[in-house]
Amino acid sequence: MKQKIIVIGSGFGGLGAAIRLAAAGHDVELFEKRDKLGGRAYVYEINGFKFDGGPTVITAPFMFDDLWAVAGRKREDYFEMVPCDPFYRIFDWNKRAFDYNDDAAFILSQIEQWNPADKDGYQRFMGTTKAIFQKGFVELADKPFLSIMDMLKVAPDLIKMQSYLSVYKYVSQFIQDDFLRRCFSFHPLLIGGNPFDAPSIYAMIHYLERAWGIHYAIGGTGAVVNAMGRLFEELGGKVHLSTEVDEILIEQKRAAGIRTRDGQIYQADSVVCNADVGFTYDKLIRKDNQSLYARAKMSLMKYSMSLFVIYFGTKKQYRDHGLAHHNIILSERYKALLSDIFNRKALSQDFSLYLHMPTLTDPSIAPPGCEAFYVLSPVPHLGSGVDWTIAAKPYRDAIMQFLEDNYLPDLQANIIAEHYIDPLHFQGELNSRMGSAFSVQPVLTQSAWFRPHNRSEDFDNLYFVGAGTHPGAGLPGVLSSSIIVQDLIGPAAEPSHRQPVDPGLSIATGD
Ligand SMILES: Cc1cc2nc3c(=O)[nH]c(=O)nc-3n(C[C@H](O)[C@H](O)[C@H](O)COP(=O)(O)OP(=O)(O)OC[C@H]3O[C@@H](n4cnc5c(N)ncnc54)[C@H](O)[C@@H]3O)c2cc1C
Repeated sequence: MKQKIIVIGSGFGGLGAAIRLAAAGHDVELFEKRDKLGGRAYVYEINGFKFDGGPTVITAPFMFDDLWAVAGRKREDYFEMVPCDPFYRIFDWNKRAFDYNDDAAFILSQIEQWNPADKDGYQRFMGTTKAIFQKGFVELADKPFLSIMDMLKVAPDLIKMQSYLSVYKYVSQFIQDDFLRRCFSFHPLLIGGNPFDAPSIYAMIHYLERAWGIHYAIGGTGAVVNAMGRLFEELGGKVHLSTEVDEILIEQKRAAGIRTRDGQIYQADSVVCNADVGFTYDKLIRKDNQSLYARAKMSLMKYSMSLFVIYFGTKKQYRDHGLAHHNIILSERYKALLSDIFNRKALSQDFSLYLHMPTLTDPSIAPPGCEAFYVLSPVPHLGSGVDWTIAAKPYRDAIMQFLEDNYLPDLQANIIAEHYIDPLHFQGELNSRMGSAFSVQPVLTQSAWFRPHNRSEDFDNLYFVGAGTHPGAGLPGVLSSSIIVQDLIGPAAEPSHRQPVDPGLSIATGD
């Protein structure tokens, strides 16, 4: 039955749900607080540079193809994706680099340079990740976990796959070299998890990378957001930008609609909320409408770390400086630094960085002869008590000086565009509880049924999509949540992506 549906928030989860529901024939209106679509994928345009604010790595390109297929269109007609090679260049604290891509022989040759004895272990590790991917992604990521029974049904498989181990511990069973262990276990950080706490099921991210590659959208991730906005409007969807929702209206235990900041009321048959789920329970639903259970569950949730991100453009190019499109620069301290960020909630002097250099692949996002970058440092969320109005500038200076001294000579004299964000941005601009960059932390006790559900426990017609719900953060995760919500509202999606065509990954040998 055709419904009037309101979607709150235009992150990838919100946009994905809005497109799917509009394609299914519903009348969908989307309300976004900011002046542009995209949520964490907001684009900053400064002095001729286009900086993607958030996601830069596309790991499951087939999910975008599926979204366009659902709408009866071809993704290729809207934006172009190109593969990145290497996937990542990972530097140790002595600036020695390890590259990997989708070529087994190449990866083994890289491992050979660090610790030849780990070649065999890497192949055994890869051999186990396919089964983890099949269970964790293909079978579970786009299924709702609304009842404890759903959880109990999968528990034996989770135990069989050693999901009780952390990703780091899981990888360490196969790989001896400490730096290589880091290279094959850092992936939970991409979705807000600590490799020492996140369940080993996230080892599937490496399988996903190897099987389908890492892609970049020409024009930046912002080009994907624009394409999704265009697709939604072509399907008859209506977008309200710069329109913050103040309250989800509840009548007789059902979501009746929303009230926006300017006092307007919009009614709906169903509401899909892409705003941070912790913030939603805190601010958008009146407490006297919430059950004690929901309030208690939300108040006990642990939130992932935050990020400090500096977007900068230089008037000169930094080719031949040994950098790749995606660079990870690891601090010598790994476990202790992660513990500072996730457990002690202390801002350390040292940092591990992700350095994005998209102009290597796509010069169109910077003025001619210039280079665009962003550098990201994981930092504790606002539970740390750090006063970022004071700490931000010295932290920025320390990171830029480090880059200038080690990777980008004369950097600061060449910057012609710059902007930075800190945990206060995630809290104030993106309405994220604790200023977390990835919402609810991915640990076993906050996964699947234990995570905030995709349908509210309190109100049958209130749905949640996005990083804080099942299955979790990252583009594949939040797009999966939009499939779940389409299935729950109906009519259910054709399950095309659930059996993504595996490109026949060669893992056991170097050929
Ligand atoms: C710096 C950074 C880099 C990342 N890199 C990658 C990457 O390379 N690859 C990857 O897969 N993932 C990456 N991630 C994670 C990924 O970007 C996120 O998990 C994902 O984009 C979150 O999508 P979402 O659907 O949860 O919505 P969000 O992006 O969180 O958007 C929610 C939207 O809701 C809006 N909103 C909130 N409250 C209201 C309200 N009351 N009224 C109206 N609107 C409201 C917000 O303004 C926002 O636009 C990265 C994240 C960050 C922060």
